[in-house]
Parts: sequence; C-alpha cells; structure tokens
Amino acid sequence: MELPAPAEDILNELGLNPVISAAGTTTAYGGSRLRPEVMDAMNRASNTMVNIDALNAAAGKVLAQYSGAEAGLVTSGAAGGLVLQAAAVIAGTDPIKMNKLPDTDGMKNEIIIHRSHRFPYDQCYLSVGAKFVEIGDGRRCNEWELEGAFTENTAAAAYLFSPFITRRSIPFPRFCEISHANGIPVIVDAASYIPPRSNLKQYIAQGADLVIYSGGKGVRGPQGTGILCGKADLIEAAYANASPHQFIGRGLKVSKEEIIGLVKALEIFVNEDEDAENERYKRMCSKVVDALVEIPGLSVKVVHDRYDYLIPMAQIGFTDEWNGVSRDTIWEELANSDPVIYLGNIGGPDELLVDPFNLTDSELEVVIERLHNKLVG
Ligand SMILES: *Cc1c(COP(=O)(O)O)cnc(C)c1O
Repeated sequence: MELPAPAEDILNELGLNPVISAAGTTTAYGGSRLRPEVMDAMNRASNTMVNIDALNAAAGKVLAQYSGAEAGLVTSGAAGGLVLQAAAVIAGTDPIKMNKLPDTDGMKNEIIIHRSHRFPYDQCYLSVGAKFVEIGDGRRCNEWELEGAFTENTAAAAYLFSPFITRRSIPFPRFCEISHANGIPVIVDAASYIPPRSNLKQYIAQGADLVIYSGGKGVRGPQGTGILCGKADLIEAAYANASPHQFIGRGLKVSKEEIIGLVKALEIFVNEDEDAENERYKRMCSKVVDALVEIPGLSVKVVHDRYDYLIPMAQIGFTDEWNGVSRDTIWEELANSDPVIYLGNIGGPDELLVDPFNLTDSELEVVIERLHNKLVG
C-alpha cells in the first residue's frame, strides 16, 4: 500500500516535529502508520453506541476466522494480551481466583519458559502473579529439560516468536506435543511476527492454545490493539478477566473504536497481495544498497528470511575493514539529527538496518542521503 504522508502541523502545535522511523514497528517511535480506511471506520464507530460484550463476541469471530482458531479477542496491544493469557491459564473463569489476582497462592501459577525467551515483555505474565520455571541454558534447550519442568503447579508453557531469538529454541511443534502430552496449554507471543501473513494461522495449526499478535504493528491497525486467538475455553477465560469486567484486566480497556478499527485492519491486511508488498520493499531496499554498496568496509545487502528479517530490509554490515565512525555513533547521530532518523538496531552488533515498513518514498530518499553523508563523511 502507498503510505499516507505525515501531517507535520499536528505535531508542530505541540512544538514537535515528525521523526522518520526506519526501525520497523517500534512502539517508541510511533508504531506503524494506521490505514486510512481504519481511521474512517473508527470515526464512524465513535458515535455509535453498542453492547461491548456483543461487539467483542462478533469481533472475536472475525479474529478466529482469520487465524484458524476456535475463538478470538481484541486486546489492549499484544502486551495486554500477555496479561490476559496468564490470567486465563492461572485463574480461568473462577471468580474467586480471578478476584485474588495477582495473589496466586494456592493456584497453579507456574509458567515454563525458555531462558532464551526471557524478554522485557514477560513482566506482563509476572504482573498476574505467575512464576517462571526456566528451561535451557540461554543459548539452547533440550527436550528433556521441558519434560523435566512440569510440576503439579504448572499453568502453561510459554513460547516466544521474535527476531533473533526463536531459531535456537525447541522446535515449536515438538514444544506443543510435549506440553500437551503433559496436559499443559501452550501460550504464544508472536507480537511482531506478522507479516508474513501465513504466520497468522501457523502456530494455531501447529498446536498453540493461545497466540497473541500485535494489532498496531504489522497489521497497521489501531496502535493500542492486539489479536488474541486460540481455544474457546481459554478465550472465554481471557475475556472474563478483561475489561469491561472488573477483574485484573480492567485496566486494559479496548474501546469500541479500537475493536472495530482492528477488525477492519485485519480484513484488509489478510487480503493484501504480499508478493507485491515485498517487491515494493525490495525495490526500496535496493536503492539503499545501490547508494552505499561501494563504500569500503561495509557489506550492504537486502536481507529477508523466515526468522529474523520478516520483510525485505537493507542490512548495513560493518566489516573488520571498516575504519570509519562506529556503528553506534552513526545510529546516535542520526537519531539526534534534523529530521530525526531511527535506524533498526536490534539485529547483530555489527549491523544497522533500514526497515522500509514505515517509510514513504520521500522519507527513504532522506534516509539514504543522510546515511550516505554519515558513512562517507
Ligand atoms: C511489540 C511486542 C510486544 C508488545 O506489543 P504491543 O502491541 O505494542 O503491546 C510484545 N511482545 C513482543 C515480542 C513484541 O515484539
């Protein structure tokens, strides 16, 4: 899709200027550009009163349809969905337990997690009162370590799909088989793992019991939304703990506008031509490569795979022959320039990324020009 141009004046009123985000869907830089059709749907929803239980049920059916799951729920971001995953597996629909959270004394409250899958968002699980049982040594994990981790207090086994993390884990289908053989549900965080669109059905098909995706990242839906899908009984439990119900998830309200906006965004997202989209990204990244490839000491190429670079990105590798300013300095200086430019830096320590996801063509030109000046300057 062609991205709408930024509206500077709306930030200027606050004394701010837009930034250029070549760092993917990073929340701290604005997330993603919302689809105009979604904004229009939210605008119309905003003056329409509706029963929220009925709206959530209807929206959940759409999420279920597109994920291949039994049921779905719109959540307050993927992070809010993680809170509800934990509440669902620990308290279920038992109001006595739900009311006690985050005090989980006397409840099955252990969540098994790869040590390598510990990440800042996992505090969302802990906030419900979950206790982690870590497996693996941080770099790799054997199946027997998972086998040995189940106890009478196990509530779930958690799995993270995230760039630069997932490849070293117990393969997901085996993780599900082993957990299910022990009678334990598998809860998944795949917040930033769509596109590719096929991932929207993949984990449910492989056995996941609950999966969360961000609605405000790759789907270009409302920034504050998430897509929770999975088994009907667990979705029912997640919703029982969620707003508008007055339990631990009440602080994670999702508005009617956001629910309707996410449904609209998802409908458009799943029907888009992914090959054409990737061709566009590839063309954009090739421009970066063409502009920088001759610079000595750099290795610049387009990267795209199933694990780490989920859409085509331009990778700027700093080789041993590079003797210019450091990679970190370049990132810092661009982040403090006018206009502010954020490059992707979550990959290897010797690379920077230009992620085209949130770039208009004219923003890309600015990124290329500034980057070229820094690298040859
Ligand atoms: C971005 C992200 C989240 C949070 O998603 P939000 O929709 O911003 O709440 C959670 N987990 C992972 C792995 C993420 O990348």
